[in-house]
Amino acid sequence: MAARPMPYLEGLNPAQRDAVEALEGPVLMLAGAGTGKTRALTARIAHLLACGLARPNEILAVTFTNKAAREMKERVGRLTGGTVEGMPWMGTFHSISVKILRRHAELVGLKSNFTILDTDDQIRLLKQVIAAANIDEKRWPARQLAGFIDHWKNRAWGPEQVPSSEASAFNNMGTELYAAYQARLLALNACDFGDLLLHVVTIFQKHPDVLEQYQRWLRYILVDEYQDTNVAQYLWLRLLAAGHKNICCVGDDDQSIYGWRGAEVGNILRFEKDFPGAKVIRLEQNYRSTEHILAAASGLISANAGRLGKTLWTEMTGGEKVRLIGHWDGEEEARWIGEEAEALQRGTRGLGPFSLDRQAILVRASHQMRAFEDRFLTIGLPYRVIGGPRFYERLEIRDAMAYFRLAVSPGDDLAFERIVNTPKRGLGDKAQQVIQRQAREDGVSLLEGARYVVASGQIGGKGGARLRLLVEQIDRWHRQVQAPDCDHIRLAETILDDSGYTEMWQNDKTPEAPGRLENLKELVGALNNFENLQGFLEHVSLIMDNESEDAEEKITIMTLHAAKGLEFPVVFLPGWEEGFLPSQRSMDESGVRGLEEERRLAYVGITRAEEICTISFVANRLYFGRWQSQLPSRFIDELPARHVEVLTPPGLYGGGFGAAAPRASAMEDRATRADVYNSPGWKRMQDRVGQRGLSQPREQRHQVIDLDAVSAFTEGDRVFHQKFGYGTVEGIEGDKLEVSFDKAGVKHVVASFVTTAES
Ligand code: ATP
Ligand code: MG
Repeated sequence: MAARPMPYLEGLNPAQRDAVEALEGPVLMLAGAGTGKTRALTARIAHLLACGLARPNEILAVTFTNKAAREMKERVGRLTGGTVEGMPWMGTFHSISVKILRRHAELVGLKSNFTILDTDDQIRLLKQVIAAANIDEKRWPARQLAGFIDHWKNRAWGPEQVPSSEASAFNNMGTELYAAYQARLLALNACDFGDLLLHVVTIFQKHPDVLEQYQRWLRYILVDEYQDTNVAQYLWLRLLAAGHKNICCVGDDDQSIYGWRGAEVGNILRFEKDFPGAKVIRLEQNYRSTEHILAAASGLISANAGRLGKTLWTEMTGGEKVRLIGHWDGEEEARWIGEEAEALQRGTRGLGPFSLDRQAILVRASHQMRAFEDRFLTIGLPYRVIGGPRFYERLEIRDAMAYFRLAVSPGDDLAFERIVNTPKRGLGDKAQQVIQRQAREDGVSLLEGARYVVASGQIGGKGGARLRLLVEQIDRWHRQVQAPDCDHIRLAETILDDSGYTEMWQNDKTPEAPGRLENLKELVGALNNFENLQGFLEHVSLIMDNESEDAEEKITIMTLHAAKGLEFPVVFLPGWEEGFLPSQRSMDESGVRGLEEERRLAYVGITRAEEICTISFVANRLYFGRWQSQLPSRFIDELPARHVEVLTPPGLYGGGFGAAAPRASAMEDRATRADVYNSPGWKRMQDRVGQRGLSQPREQRHQVIDLDAVSAFTEGDRVFHQKFGYGTVEGIEGDKLEVSFDKAGVKHVVASFVTTAES
């Protein structure tokens, strides 16, 4: 070995050093979160280079994201004291497969300039295939077929290899249509995402000469997040490693969270069988999290049955316990997290200070991000959303907002332009030019221009008829907005329905469509916090203006899935409620297996935290525009109580939970949720929801309760309203109160804008 300084070995523990120095032969590093697997893997690459055992282009390193690959490259560069020029084989399974496939495309019937279809294209093509087979796409949607095909490709089954046990798929036509789809793809010189791997595996299997070439070139193979590889990826790796067997995989069975995408934890178990004599290295020291955080996570994951099991310890004793806090509703949760993040940023809690970029909020589903974005935009707390645009920047949200803007201000030309042909009304560029010219000539808004164009018959046919309808609709919505008793939430729904906008997404069979519909519902739900549409639009335009794009210190909002492998000193885990985490869907679809995967997801969440981990849940959630009572997640019960501290929220509705009752030490573990239930604040909250929901058995969770039940007011209550002052409640209708104000007279106001006043 070269007698060079090896800074990358410094500070590694003996087991990690082992993993770094065992360069020849198969190595499996199986270890828990934060034990330095990724760090050891990086050092291993540095070592290979420093010892001159491999050149940068002879190392195949598979990471979970391309971003992770870039970071690893940088780290290797730093460790070896230079820049790593060209590590072409460092990336995700997909990015590496594309490279290989471009070189040998002709072996699977493609040309090297093949296109890679995105999901939209994929669905469109599947629709054609389904139609060509005379199948009713309405009954047998393309999306469903896409699901089967993905599943088969994840298992490395081409159309001929799909086993007969799958024959009933898609009305017994699945395999046949799969074959037809593959043929269409070839004819188009295209492939989809799943093909990238499948084709490479096929090439390796059918052309040993090609495989041998790669086996010679790629002399060392390293794989991070190995627990999330699927069968096709596993085969791909096994073929490449079959010659030299210099393969090092690192993973953690407790962090396997892609079962729904075909990942197989079983690959970990197969490794030792397929690579006999593999060196198995276990790392047990966690360097990331403090004692309580680690213990809470370990306690939680121990509830899973099928585990390989492992011990984890840390030298970082003491520190904060995992903090648990319950809130009245989602808005309060967002408000509290915003304030807490700022307090931690300033260091005023005796903790920290932690700059915002050292803090993260990790959610189960992306629609949960909206409440935080809203709150943070309002208070000017800089944030970044990883893995998708921010809520108000999403396509469907901007479209819907354009409709709302037109209802409020029919002269809003930008809004008009945006939606005039969305959904399609047969008003293409030419028709729009006619409208624009007319508006310019008359010096009026586009709406008025359109009105004249319709009346004078300049645009005829279907397009003309639809334009006339749109003009009428905008007029009507505008009248409704101005009516004093306008129910702006219902109006918003009407606008989206009547315009055909909702329907447009309902008919859209791309995988993104359901998410867009969820976001639209979430948008309508958000209106609940405002007295009228104008107020809401103002709020959004103000917050959109206020964006501090260049502020570099930002709190991160991302999904738990995207957070894998990352770490933050401060982590917030909101929405720990039954149906959210664990998510209802995964339990419905996959039963206990689904539940265990959800638990691993929760485990991934906690183990991202270095110093402060705060779990929260709410009693009521405005879910798609309706209030529902929530039960705290069962995972909260599974946290060992002695590593958890129940916090007292400031409480918008008259005080928080108060201190938890002292507990006998014998009951120490598994009593956390009971702590919350027994606290005075929770009892108060329970009273407010009319004894419904919170103490019910789990089976009855997610009952939608109507707003009368949660209304904090009764007739005769004295209340205070920001704008109208003091008054007396005369009636309650849903979320609205009829209040006789002392000065302003009788008004209908939204209940959440009113606070109880001492009489
Ligand atoms: P995950 O399972 O979440 O991906 P991991 O096992 O890959 O975790 P790393 O991200 O490599 O863990 O390491 C976690 C943290 O511990 C990092 O901040 C890393 O720098 C640090 N760390 C790892 N090994 C050591 C060590 N020997 N001494 C000090 N710090 C270490
Ligand atoms: Mg890692």
